[in-house]
Amino acid sequence: MRFVRAAVALLLAFPGSCLLAAEAGKPAVVVIRAGILIDGVSAAPRTNQVIVVRGNRIESVGDAGKAMIPEGARVVDLSKAVVLPGLIDSHTHTFLQGEDPAEGGYDAQLLKHPSSFRAARATVAVHRALAQGFTTIRDLETEGAGYGDVGIKEAIEAGYIPGLRMFVVTRAISTSGGYPLEGYNPDVAVPRGVQIVDGPVEARKAAREQLEHGADWIKVYMTHRSWVDKQGNLVSQPTLTLDEIKAITDETHGWGKKVACHAYNGVGLHRALDGGCDSIEHGLELDDAAVAQMAKQGTWYCPTLSVYYHQWAPEGTPAGTLDRKRAAVHGPSFTKALKAGVKIVFGTDVGGFPWTDPIAQEFPRMVEFGMTPMQAIQSATSKPAEMLGMAGEIGAVAPGAYADIVAVGADPLKDVKALEHVGFVMKDGKVYRDEIK
Ligand SMILES: [Zn+2]
Repeated sequence: MRFVRAAVALLLAFPGSCLLAAEAGKPAVVVIRAGILIDGVSAAPRTNQVIVVRGNRIESVGDAGKAMIPEGARVVDLSKAVVLPGLIDSHTHTFLQGEDPAEGGYDAQLLKHPSSFRAARATVAVHRALAQGFTTIRDLETEGAGYGDVGIKEAIEAGYIPGLRMFVVTRAISTSGGYPLEGYNPDVAVPRGVQIVDGPVEARKAAREQLEHGADWIKVYMTHRSWVDKQGNLVSQPTLTLDEIKAITDETHGWGKKVACHAYNGVGLHRALDGGCDSIEHGLELDDAAVAQMAKQGTWYCPTLSVYYHQWAPEGTPAGTLDRKRAAVHGPSFTKALKAGVKIVFGTDVGGFPWTDPIAQEFPRMVEFGMTPMQAIQSATSKPAEMLGMAGEIGAVAPGAYADIVAVGADPLKDVKALEHVGFVMKDGKVYRDEIK
């Protein structure tokens, strides 16, 4: 942990390398001409719109024929493009890099790499996500890199490195026997990917520590190991007891913050819901009672579909059977939750796969399992904005919102895969990419 802080301090010590520090003086005015505007909130797109950006906020949005162009404004012509709000990924890991098992996989990250190395790669990751049109992420734990996410977020906000808006959870929480590193000589102390707690007192204390040190959300693992039993059912090991999760949600809600719960299915999933979790991560197998409870309680569902199609182990092996079973139950759970009106947000688990892969690969999976392209887009714009307590400020192209605006060359309402090719990116009023043909 101290290592990470030292690494970030190094970054902060070289302001001369900063090309993006805020400029003094009057806020710049930029006018964007949008051929088609999907504003993230409205049910239908609008054509030929003019968006006026003053400084880091959107001042106005209106029809091109009627809009007044402020004097001296820089004009960005996206009249042949489709303009959207900056996209939001609600489940990322900037401190993971889709580790190749042949290179030591996850364990090597914790055992071999200095925290500065991991912070350097996280710095690259947030830039890559921004270049792909993702202007906000909820980053769901550092996997043994302590409070490194707080440092990356602070470095972005101070203008030292390019990046996106971050909501961070810091270390995450699970129980003994509930998270890697695992499988080492019990006499050797190895690092853990989370903060381990046993009992409601330790659970509450961990939440307090993480909130004190900068967590915007708290992340809890409510299930850990999973396997396919003899009857062919997906089974997952529950981790925290109801008393333990209640101590965490009670503490976190007292701070005005929310709790994200990794839960696959079964007992752990139901404890998460009974314990007052605010979002269910993955939710591979949602039974009818879970879906009904989520709809009733307003629990968010962040399914992360596409990552479960990566790197399946060979068919017929226990791991291969598990990989196929997880994917087989996931899609129907998503469809059932969607039909029941559960609030769904776009999340990918990127970091679990490399940041060089398209993050937008999640959109076609959401459409495959029942969303319209517009619903899928709103799950990555206005819906997570609401979940994050930022409705109207992010995830929307509307007056008063932050100027987080992206554009693609083809219509994602016709083919949602168009979102894999974002060519224009503005975040907080600054243009980071301008390659629309
Ligand atoms: Zn994850």
